[in-house]
Amino acid sequence: MTEPKENPLMEKIVSLCKRRGFIFQSSEIYGGINGFWDYGPLGVELRKNIRDCWWNDMVRQRDDIVGLESSIIMHPKVWEASGHIGGFNDPMVDCKVSKQRFRADQLFFAPVIIDRKIVGYVSALESETTAAEMQEQAEKFKRKKAIQGKLEPVQPRDFTEAKSEEIPLIPSPATGEPGSLTPPRAFNMMLQTYVGALRDESAVAYLRPETAQGMFVDFKAIVDTGRVKIPFGIAQVGKSFRNEITPRNFIFRSREFEQMEMEYFISDEDDWAKWHRYWIDWCREWLVKAGIPAAQLSEYNHPKEKLSHYSKGTTDIMFQFPFGVQELWGIAARGNFDLSQHAKFSGEPMEYFDDVAKRKYVPHVIEPAVGVDRIMLAILCSAYCEDQAPDEKGKMESRVVLKFAPRIAPIKVAIFPLLKNKPELVEKAKAVRDLLRPHMTVFYDEAGAIGRRYRRQDEIGTPFGLTIDFDTLGEKGDELKDTVTLRDRDTMKQERVKISELLQLLLPKIR
Ligand code: ATP
Repeated sequence: MTEPKENPLMEKIVSLCKRRGFIFQSSEIYGGINGFWDYGPLGVELRKNIRDCWWNDMVRQRDDIVGLESSIIMHPKVWEASGHIGGFNDPMVDCKVSKQRFRADQLFFAPVIIDRKIVGYVSALESETTAAEMQEQAEKFKRKKAIQGKLEPVQPRDFTEAKSEEIPLIPSPATGEPGSLTPPRAFNMMLQTYVGALRDESAVAYLRPETAQGMFVDFKAIVDTGRVKIPFGIAQVGKSFRNEITPRNFIFRSREFEQMEMEYFISDEDDWAKWHRYWIDWCREWLVKAGIPAAQLSEYNHPKEKLSHYSKGTTDIMFQFPFGVQELWGIAARGNFDLSQHAKFSGEPMEYFDDVAKRKYVPHVIEPAVGVDRIMLAILCSAYCEDQAPDEKGKMESRVVLKFAPRIAPIKVAIFPLLKNKPELVEKAKAVRDLLRPHMTVFYDEAGAIGRRYRRQDEIGTPFGLTIDFDTLGEKGDELKDTVTLRDRDTMKQERVKISELLQLLLPKIR
């Protein structure tokens, strides 16, 4: 077996997400359903903040981008025009013995070469350690077969590159034995349904595999409402569905997920590379503002020969996930392919009239496309941290903290009366809660020792904690009356702040 190795950091994140109500397996009481997830009370808040920040920065704060919410099920012709019915295929490989199915581009193999002769093959599924695993397998192979000579370093290739004569010799990652893997076959990833009472071919429809086509199909309608002038963009947030062959790595790749996409239309004579770069930089900066350290981000330019024929260039912003560096956000320069296809299939012209140059043309498009779930996972991974903090008695103990950027954190402020059996403290704490609640998410907690209450909030990433104590009530005189202790999650530093100044202090920090 060459299953990817268990990842201790991922295990901790998955378990924290379940324990604290961020993410649950869908339909868990029935044994779960692979590739589907539910988001619990804190998960929905976190996702809402991701969406709201993106929407605010992408649409509301700009003059050149408008929003759209198109339907999930569209006319089936949309998917013919977009190429999804004919071409939305991932090559898959079946293992005839284990009945497992793999994506060909995630299954790696390499010949074992000793003294320049191929003596066998090794294989492994994509992970951070694929190459090392395969090297180890090759060494084991050499020892087991007692072959003398010099073993060459293995050169992993993905299964889409396997020659037909190599396929029977490549061991299945499920069984470790050769002979059971099928050649890669195209597998359409669209989820199909029926619309209306009939269940025949004429009723077939699809759950959208991306939100982008809504923007192309409604391009004319939006231009005709007259609010936009090129260059301009149309943005949409919504669910997409793909029948992924191998959903995995928690919420990284699921079958139901949510996308945030924007189509930025530019003139056919404009410099597409300049706009492409502009949007790559915009996305990177946005991720940093969402709390992802710039050092964990990188860029991958798709090689020219692997691009679709219409694509001028695609760059992925990559994130260092615990299971390897993987695509987070794709920024594609798609030329005028999509609009031209819809013009062809619908018979409706998809042109833009430039009233200054008095010229009609089909605009080109730059598309930044990202998944809410994937950003959520990247944020959780980069925020997860274990450090040391003093307990009630000042003894150091380890603590788990999610260092969310305040603008993304599900709860912004936790409010604690020092003691729950002192009505004056409770009353004052509730008054502070009511003061802040119209402006931010707050959590009121009076249960347990104060240190424990801090710890509970650290673990869910609440950036600020407010304690209402006897000083607040004025027991140490007027100077401290109506002040509270404000604790910072990351530095654990505490300062005394006037209740009347709380809003003014906190609001800029959480934007
Ligand atoms: P892959 O090659 O990994 O399947 P893709 O390149 O086909 O992905 P796009 O079609 O470019 O992905 O989708 C845009 C974005 O949507 C991705 O960058 C990712 O953030 C998100 N995304 C795509 N597929 C999934 C999925 N199955 N689960 C979660 N998010 C996804």
